[in-house]
Amino acid sequence: MKGFAMLEIGKTGWIEKERPKCGPMDAIVRPLALSPCTSDIHTVWEGAIGQRHNMILGHEACGEVVEVGSLVKDFHVGDKVLVAAITPDWNSLEAQDGYPMHSHGMLAGWKFSNFKDGVFGEYFHVNDADGNLALIPAGIDVTEACMLSDMVPTGFHGAELADVQFGDTVLVIGIGPVGLMSVAGANLRGASRIICVGTRPACIEVAKAYGATDFISYKDGDIDKQVLELTGGKFVDRVIIAGGDCDTFIPAVKCLKPGGYIGNVNYLGDGEYVKIPRSEWGVGMGHKLIVGGLMPGGRLRLEKLASLVHYHKLDVSLLLTHKFSGFAHVEDAIKLMKEKPADLIKPVVKM
Ligand code: NDP
Ligand code: ZN
Repeated sequence: MKGFAMLEIGKTGWIEKERPKCGPMDAIVRPLALSPCTSDIHTVWEGAIGQRHNMILGHEACGEVVEVGSLVKDFHVGDKVLVAAITPDWNSLEAQDGYPMHSHGMLAGWKFSNFKDGVFGEYFHVNDADGNLALIPAGIDVTEACMLSDMVPTGFHGAELADVQFGDTVLVIGIGPVGLMSVAGANLRGASRIICVGTRPACIEVAKAYGATDFISYKDGDIDKQVLELTGGKFVDRVIIAGGDCDTFIPAVKCLKPGGYIGNVNYLGDGEYVKIPRSEWGVGMGHKLIVGGLMPGGRLRLEKLASLVHYHKLDVSLLLTHKFSGFAHVEDAIKLMKEKPADLIKPVVKM
């Protein structure tokens, strides 16, 4: 079968591989729609997870089941399914401990385009099919279904990690597709004021539709100073980080109230250390909690997030700025993701 792969750090291309084999608890899926992620860019062009050779890229897809293992109970050949980017081993001790994304090792629930071939192939393999697939609800287009793999669950996880409460003032740093879903998630959880950091006009417009109230640019000086100017010196209740770099924690801590939470879902592609400002962190005693997390994955979560789309509580179509038709365009979609033109939020490829 054909697949679009990372050949080595800094290099991508089409390769031929054997169709993956289906274990007793697994499924083989044929993609119906695909989307590249900024993480694919960190992986290939920043070498963020180290060297990989001839690894098929991609972890955002929905598809049709073409084969199931003998122990799979709830899915059948022909089912149209949502597939999460993170596919934990649900029998692991880590999953039983409440952290499925770290099943069998830190971040090891992230298998596609990390430890095994990703979804940008004619077929892909899903472990633990009963735990990691969900049926696409009626009325959801496959291009929208694709946003339920990673953008919705990751962005919403930012709002969960920051533990957004009714009436909170929330700062969302980074409003690419992930941050936009954090805005939507914070809004659904009851945030009142949502201050966003980002400059691409397309993202700003869509952020307004998802509930953003104020905008600042990281290009116009210190984020914390701009935030405190907007709030009249009042600290924010929560910060969600979905963009920036290792230094982004500095303004986040500086403008957060004591007792506030920082939820980070940004993938830190380079740098050795994350900096925390000592004094503004209450010289170590400020109760300013910083949590960074990979989204959990799992069928129940997929079903619940999909129900938000099904019942029109969340419109993911606003993210889809560039639509392609035909597998060959995966290459164009990745290229767009790398270049990030001003009008881009998310490209999607319908097969
Ligand atoms: P984008 O590149 O589309 O968006 C990044 C956002 O951050 C943009 O709004 C950008 O602004 C802003 N930004 C850039 N530089 C800075 C800076 N120095 N300070 C503050 N803001 C800045 O990324 P995505 O939305 O696609 O992804 C966001 C991150 O989430 C990525 O690192 C991605 O790898 C990660 N990710 C994590 C996952 C997880 O499970 N934890 C899963 C999926 C993705 P501008 O408008 O100017 O471009
Ligand atoms: Zn991703």
